[in-house]
Amino acid sequence: MELAQIITERVCRVTGGAKVALHEPSFKGNEWAYVKECIDTGWVSSVGSFVDRFEHDLAEATGAKHAVVVSNGTSGLQVALQISGVEPGDEVIIPALSFVATANAVKHCGAQPHFADSDHATLGLSVPALADYLPSVVERRDGASVNRHTGRRIAAIVPMHTFGHPVDMPALMVLANRFGIAVVEDAAESLGSLIDGRHTGTHGLCAMLSFNGNKIVTTGGGGAIITDDAQLARRAKHLTTTAKQPHKWAFFHDEVAYNYRMPNLNAALGCAQLEQLEGFVAAKRELAQRYAHAFSDVAGVSFFLERPGTRANYWLQTLILEREFADQRDAILAHTNEAGQMTRPVWELLTQLPMYTGCPAMETPMARDLSLRIVNLPSSPQLVTGAV
Ligand SMILES: *Cc1c(COP(=O)(O)O)cnc(C)c1O
Repeated sequence: MELAQIITERVCRVTGGAKVALHEPSFKGNEWAYVKECIDTGWVSSVGSFVDRFEHDLAEATGAKHAVVVSNGTSGLQVALQISGVEPGDEVIIPALSFVATANAVKHCGAQPHFADSDHATLGLSVPALADYLPSVVERRDGASVNRHTGRRIAAIVPMHTFGHPVDMPALMVLANRFGIAVVEDAAESLGSLIDGRHTGTHGLCAMLSFNGNKIVTTGGGGAIITDDAQLARRAKHLTTTAKQPHKWAFFHDEVAYNYRMPNLNAALGCAQLEQLEGFVAAKRELAQRYAHAFSDVAGVSFFLERPGTRANYWLQTLILEREFADQRDAILAHTNEAGQMTRPVWELLTQLPMYTGCPAMETPMARDLSLRIVNLPSSPQLVTGAV
């Protein structure tokens, strides 16, 4: 049998074989009740009790001291970078293998992405590769780390926890601190993922979470900035809410800022979703075990499992093709999708997109290699809890 056929058969064995999407939201908790409460009370827009409650619940769920909810993850990352000191003309190190929003947020700050390689062990930013590279490119000037080739300051590093698998944050923090570079985590995909029991997004200075419709918890669209630093949190709130000085009635705004608020309606959905986070994580972890078992005797592929010491949320389930089978990826994608099993390749490398060619970059052989060999499998928690 062809590999594509075998893979389709094994995916169907796990999903039950009916037509399934890559990732669908699950609304079986208090979603209706909380959203209805917004409509019944008229509090649907940019202020309301669910906004405060969602921020409180997010801080509790992640162990961060503060959370500021925003209109989406991309705007959240932009502001997270800004409050961490990224200025126009700076460079920000990001993985070449990421969703385009990571690079766009850097650009929205007026800064330049500087692309880094990925790691086969984590699928995220390669800390060993970066440790080799930084000394060759960085020159210390007045306490800042400057790219000796471009003369631009390297103001931040953005690790991204791919599909919910954590980057080696303890090692990255040691490296970043050595060079005096701020770490801002793109934790868009990793709500519920832990490193040694500590939530992703709480190792760096601050982090962004996304609640887009395809993420593990959704508000329809939305995001958050989380941080332990009270001053940064205040600054994030101020910048994302038009920089209005608090007053009973006066409209005084003290800087050019944004309307990146999350409406109460969306926060209500978020509160209900967050109540079910541990259930979603448990279902996705069980789904991962089922896939791992189903693929254990299939030559040419391996199912990607969490590293020891981490808990992955398994946001998107990930199959890795062995190198000699990489040329079959498109046949596998075609065969599974034709059978109603929605699978997807990983993103094109950011260094290949027209607006990001020519940006500073280290060699990215591992990111390139991974980008050709990843196939994401149907990942909805309902595949385990039933009622698909
Ligand atoms: C989803 C996602 C984002 C941005 O999320 P939006 O809420 O859609 O703006 C950013 N980075 C990564 C890696 C993502 O997966």
